[in-house]
Amino acid sequence: MILTRFDYARPASVGEAVALLEATGGLPLGGGQSLLVGLATGETETPILVDLSTIDELRGITPGAAGGGLRVGASTTLSELASDPEVLRLAPALAEAARANDDAQVRNRATVGGNLVADRPGPARATDLPVAAVALGATVTVADASGRRTVPAELLGSVLTPSAVVVALEIPPGGEVSGFEKWADRATRFPMCAVAVRVDRAAGTCGVAVTAATPAPIRLPGVESRLAGGARPTIREVITAVTAEPITTFRSGHGASAEYLRHLTGVLAGRALHRSWR
Ligand SMILES: Cc1cc2nc3c(=O)[nH]c(=O)nc-3n(C[C@H](O)[C@H](O)[C@H](O)COP(=O)(O)OP(=O)(O)OC[C@H]3O[C@@H](n4cnc5c(N)ncnc54)[C@H](O)[C@@H]3O)c2cc1C
Repeated sequence: MILTRFDYARPASVGEAVALLEATGGLPLGGGQSLLVGLATGETETPILVDLSTIDELRGITPGAAGGGLRVGASTTLSELASDPEVLRLAPALAEAARANDDAQVRNRATVGGNLVADRPGPARATDLPVAAVALGATVTVADASGRRTVPAELLGSVLTPSAVVVALEIPPGGEVSGFEKWADRATRFPMCAVAVRVDRAAGTCGVAVTAATPAPIRLPGVESRLAGGARPTIREVITAVTAEPITTFRSGHGASAEYLRHLTGVLAGRALHRSWR
């Protein structure tokens, strides 16, 4: 495949990037692991790539603003996320989701901002970080021509205007006991179901989020309340709790029925909860 022609810019600040995107109708470039594939296949076209890699504000993993938690800059790579000691300590589900991308070369280039934006939920191409971010109660800060907004991770799609730049992912305190599990289609390697959980052992509660088997990364509050109570559930109990969810929450894909994917969600949630609830 031959790439179509496009210009290339390396802005020095978020403001400059937003102004360029607004003026040109171009696309932000993270690690290029989805975008360059799209340009090569003709699925995507752009007059200009606005490379975010030289913007200092988008780099680094630092303590969260509200005391505790973490701020993860949008240009952080999946490799950095998977091996950062503070992410492993304070939000292991996020590190596990980053590591679930089993291609080391992709992990070395792909960024947090790109992975959040490249998400195509449902049976097509759900990415791994959004479901972990939702289970952890994370927020995302986005800049565009109208200013900056911070929204819950599950609402990111609603604020992605054409000039939007994802600035950072903020993980609140309380994600220390959390985990991620994924089951991929063996032929395509696209995910059939990915689940992230977060456990508050003192309160006896858990958070459960799912993607790929659902039209978007969502929490399952019905499952969370069925499992509340303090004792570590068995995998069978988690499967039973997930099986009580309405079948319309799930959708078929990769040749698998919604019933099968609901059961798979229960199995993966059970594994993740059992592992995390130590
Ligand atoms: C061989 C291979 C295997 C893969 N396996 C997996 C896998 O197992 N799990 C998984 O989750 N993904 C997987 N992917 C997809 C890839 O990891 C993700 O698409 C990647 O994380 C995207 O990040 P990026 O920085 O490369 O984004 P890019 O490709 O640069 O951009 C993706 C999209 O996000 C936009 N964008 C990028 N950064 C920003 C920003 N800061 N603000 C606003 N918009 C932005 C771009 O304009 C584009 O629309 C795989 C890809 C390949 C090629």
